[in-house]
Amino acid sequence: MDDIKKAAAQFDILDYSPIGQFVLSKDNIVIFWNKCLETWSGISRDQIVGTDLITQFPHLGSDKYAENIKKIFDSNLPIIFSSQFNKHFIPSPLPGGKFRIQNTFITRIPAQEEGEYYAFFAIQDETNATAALESNKRALSQLKEEMEVRKKAEEQLVQLARYDNVTGLANRRLLREGLLRALAKTRRYHKTFALIFLDLDHFKDINDTMGHDVGDLLLKSVAERLKGRVRENDLVARMGGDEFAILIDDSDPDDAAHVSQGILEALSPFHKLDNNEVFVSSSIGIAMCPEAGEDPETICKSADTAMYLAKKMGRNNYQFFSQELHEETMKRIFLENDLRHALSQNEFILFYQPKVDMNANVIGMEALIRWQHSKLGMVGPDKFIPMAEKTGIISPISEWALQTACTQLREWKKSNYLAMDATLAVNVSLRLLKQESFWDTIKRILYETELGPHFLELELVESSIMSDPQETIDILERIHKLGARIAVDDFGSGYSSLTYLKRLPIDIIKIDMPFVQGIGKDRNDEEIIKVIISLAKSLGLQSVAEGVETKEQVSFLHEHKCDVMQGFYFCRPMPAEVATHVLEEILTEGKVKESECSATN
Ligand code: C2E
Ligand code: CA
Ligand code: CA
Repeated sequence: MDDIKKAAAQFDILDYSPIGQFVLSKDNIVIFWNKCLETWSGISRDQIVGTDLITQFPHLGSDKYAENIKKIFDSNLPIIFSSQFNKHFIPSPLPGGKFRIQNTFITRIPAQEEGEYYAFFAIQDETNATAALESNKRALSQLKEEMEVRKKAEEQLVQLARYDNVTGLANRRLLREGLLRALAKTRRYHKTFALIFLDLDHFKDINDTMGHDVGDLLLKSVAERLKGRVRENDLVARMGGDEFAILIDDSDPDDAAHVSQGILEALSPFHKLDNNEVFVSSSIGIAMCPEAGEDPETICKSADTAMYLAKKMGRNNYQFFSQELHEETMKRIFLENDLRHALSQNEFILFYQPKVDMNANVIGMEALIRWQHSKLGMVGPDKFIPMAEKTGIISPISEWALQTACTQLREWKKSNYLAMDATLAVNVSLRLLKQESFWDTIKRILYETELGPHFLELELVESSIMSDPQETIDILERIHKLGARIAVDDFGSGYSSLTYLKRLPIDIIKIDMPFVQGIGKDRNDEEIIKVIISLAKSLGLQSVAEGVETKEQVSFLHEHKCDVMQGFYFCRPMPAEVATHVLEEILTEGKVKESECSATN
């Protein structure tokens, strides 16, 4: 009924007509019934609109009328029914003796849907033939005008719905139509085409620092350059945000690579925007079709996947989508999905690796997490921690790890497997420490496990510490206030400035593994280790060498007075039960034996 109301609205002008007029749809439903007819027939608009005409006037269903009305929809020619030869259209005489003669003029008029029509009926009585004719003419031309205006408005709407209003480029919807056309062509002529996805690198920073107006100007400038780089037949679209797409008809991989390279070059000179000069690079993903997908959604996903790879490869480059890439992405997606349930399925396990001093006494343990995946087996933290960080699952996982490790440490201490001053090192990310709730978690766990905070060492990787100096200092100071200690993990890999390091409230430096493993092989590595150890000494920090695997490395570290060592040479990371067993042995033997534990990593 809503549809009918919408359709009826355009016929309001017929209410001004002095003769009876109405509009009928192809399936005989009355769409409009004018005021004059209401008076003439005694049937109100509300009564008849939306109903079948034949139910109101059964005689129309049974004779020529029906057949003729049908014809109206198929031809441009109007029909006139004369009551001299046919029955009155509206039964006559009505009260007052109207319609002794009644002519009905019928013609078709276009409906909103392309190719569909309505029938327009004008009923004229014998009393006023010329006036009726005039009125019909006027009504029809007004209707035509009205419809043209409407059509224009509709076209404008379509334009709005298909083009992006910032850049004037095609939008998602038009791109989708373009893809459907390209796919149809591919099926018919076996040609290939390319969909290129492009994402501006660090656009958000520009938007944030220079404002949205400058951001919009940049998008326009990018749109212009893109248009300048493609052929007329190619479709350039903005997908939203800082993402663009280019559909290149009749394209092979060489051609697509060529266009992509051209785009990278075209976008790189600075963009002059008002008084600003802005540089922007982009990452491009290319999907060659139909291999990359046989429907618009899949193709877009493929191009997006390739673009993601381009970003990972260091931005300002282009990458092709491939089946292997697809499989890798799927694996990642599945893994990410599984990760959401891993905690509730008890699939995480902590391994522990001892830290030993120069006398080979165990002075603490580092907890290292693993994921026992039901199908993939043991998955290492490098494979899922970044994913967990990205999706936010890192918080509950870290809470679990901290709780489990603290409980374990207390148990070992209680049963004297570990010295009372032994420490527990837990790996955390700076991002996690930015969450207020995590602080409450740490405090609660320390309280519940009755562990003094000074036994807890939080290990943070160097690269993350250096990302935002002031904020980092605030967080590190907060850790100190809590009473816990701070270790900079993987030190040396982030090339942090040593002067900056002095300003940081830290306690422990863990020398990154590759340097340690360069001992005896690479003089540079050895020099770096020496510098780090002496730096740590001068700053009053503890130095830890991780990844210690050989006797030669141990001797070197001894010689240069590294404080603490950790590595396969002493112990591999091991599950709690194995670790308990090893600690028990150490307790009876005194110290960690060389290559004490061959437990699996
Ligand atoms: P990391 O903190 O630098 O840990 C040292 C890594 O080196 C561990 O790998 C450990 O198993 C391995 N390793 C220890 N000794 C040796 C050795 O002698 N030789 C060699 N080749 N490797 C050795 P893992 O357990 O795969 O952990 C990788 C990284 O994942 C860790 O690096 C840490 O950054 C992160 N990680 C581990 N557990 C957690 C956790 O609970 N939370 C968070 N956020 N990150 C974690
Ligand atoms: Ca660590
Ligand atoms: Ca490390």
